[in-house]
Amino acid sequence: MSVVVEYPVLSLRRGEDRRVRAGHPWIFSNEVDCDRTPLSAFEPGEAVAVCDAEGEVIGLGYANPNSLICARLLVRGARRPIDRALIAERLARALALRERAFERPYYRLVHGEGDGLPGLVLDRFGEVIVGQIGTAGMERLRPEIEAALCELIAPRALLWKNDSGVRALEGLPERVEIAFGTLPEPLLVEEYGIAFAIDPRRGQKTGWYYDQRDNRRRLLPWVEGKRVLDLFSYVGAFGLLAARHGARQVLCIDDSAYAVEAVIDNALRNGLATRVSAERGEAFEVLRTLRAERQRFDVIVLDPPAFIKRRKDFKEGAIAYRRLNEMALKVLNPGGILVSCSCSFHFGRADLLAALHQAARHIDRHLRVLAELQQDLDHPVHPAIEETEYLKGFLCHVSLP
Ligand code: SAH
Repeated sequence: MSVVVEYPVLSLRRGEDRRVRAGHPWIFSNEVDCDRTPLSAFEPGEAVAVCDAEGEVIGLGYANPNSLICARLLVRGARRPIDRALIAERLARALALRERAFERPYYRLVHGEGDGLPGLVLDRFGEVIVGQIGTAGMERLRPEIEAALCELIAPRALLWKNDSGVRALEGLPERVEIAFGTLPEPLLVEEYGIAFAIDPRRGQKTGWYYDQRDNRRRLLPWVEGKRVLDLFSYVGAFGLLAARHGARQVLCIDDSAYAVEAVIDNALRNGLATRVSAERGEAFEVLRTLRAERQRFDVIVLDPPAFIKRRKDFKEGAIAYRRLNEMALKVLNPGGILVSCSCSFHFGRADLLAALHQAARHIDRHLRVLAELQQDLDHPVHPAIEETEYLKGFLCHVSLP
């Protein structure tokens, strides 16, 4: 392999190259030979050549001495530098994939490692891009990303929604700023014929959850004439779509004031206000109240935030998933449909299924899985990084035994 790029070397300890050579793009700090290449010598975000104990280059990436993941690879071998051309190529590849999969320009354009751009998320809303940068290395590449985006799709506006807590771990400030252009007000997202108005500045993450898009579609055959509960509704993507497809009545619950306002606004915009209501509330409390009031639903969607953020929270989180599902089953009519999701990557598909199964058994219901759900295909999975496959769910039919 001819080496044309010279970057500062980050040496791995003997044997620690195996996992990386097998395809994993992350280097953990305990794998580095700190006698030869002390991590403190690197600046956060600095480009590095990752080498094995013999000095052979495995790949090029960027380092962050302050992070447990002290380097991430962007290039295998050392044949080309990490520059604007590389970023442009990765972006073009990501775009081409989305253009084949989606008719309209509403999708996650870049999904970090899954698109070969670790630390970068870009969501596209027509002519507007909302991005999030999670690592010091990507932060350094910001000018390259912006230039490549302009060349490739010339968006009308780019908003950096850099307010995620993970930035602190990388020594980056939290900052929401417009890179160029002005955001239309409101910003519209189109999905299955509904236009949702969102405000990415007030909303969560980039303002929209594209990962659930295909799962929303899968719910549609089950909603006609039904009473639907959309718990953890955010701006009501599941609930409003259900109403558009014939649900008799939809109740959206979220504990964020912005989300509830947005559900109501979007129901009005789409002529669905008579069948959709939204209330601000804490999901577990609301479920208790609904049960006490003897309210029942035919379809329930559970899309909670990640209850398990770190592996050590597994036990507590698993109990929360089980409790949540059991409480939901208690207000589900016999013969009803439950869509139950988890976006905790430490909580696997089998764990969620076990929680559902236990919840159903505990209150003597019969639960059958009709469909397995996963993140939509604009959130590609990196086969070596289990964290990139984070969203799982089940569409279940629930009856009396
Ligand atoms: N289903 C949505 C995405 C949900 S994201 C969609 O398809 O777009 C999770 C949502 O849960 C967020 O909007 C957050 O505000 C809300 N949330 C978090 N904790 C909550 C709680 N304890 N009770 C109610 N809502 C909660």
